[in-house]
Amino acid sequence: MSDCIFCKIRDGEIPADFVHQDEICLGFLDINPVAPNHVVLIPREHISTINELETRHEQSIGHIFTVAAKIAKDLEMATSGYRVVVNCNADGGQEVFHIHFHLLGGRRLSWPPG
Ligand code: AMP
Ligand code: ZN
Repeated sequence: MSDCIFCKIRDGEIPADFVHQDEICLGFLDINPVAPNHVVLIPREHISTINELETRHEQSIGHIFTVAAKIAKDLEMATSGYRVVVNCNADGGQEVFHIHFHLLGGRRLSWPPG
């Protein structure tokens, strides 16, 4: 867990451009944005992947969606549209194993993803 880059961001050991902080989750700008607006949302608790989610996490994960919607509104993309993405393991393209939600918007996003 100590090697986790997102835990280090949570603990202030690595800098990040925070757009949201509360007792449950953090939101910061992705260091390598793939859209004009690209925010990463993480729970404070270290959870590796979606596969490790337990019933006790449901409230905090639900909270993250509420925060994502608020940030989308603040970024003026709530009406035009945006996407919330969670990658899981190798085929899902997950590179950081602390569960996180990509909030993407500011341009027309294609579907299906590559
Ligand atoms: P994933 O591929 O779903 O695991 O996404 C990991 C995301 O974390 C990528 O979009 C990276 O650009 C982003 N990322 C990695 N390191 C940092 C960092 N130090 N600060 C902000 N974003 C980061
Ligand atoms: Zn972590």
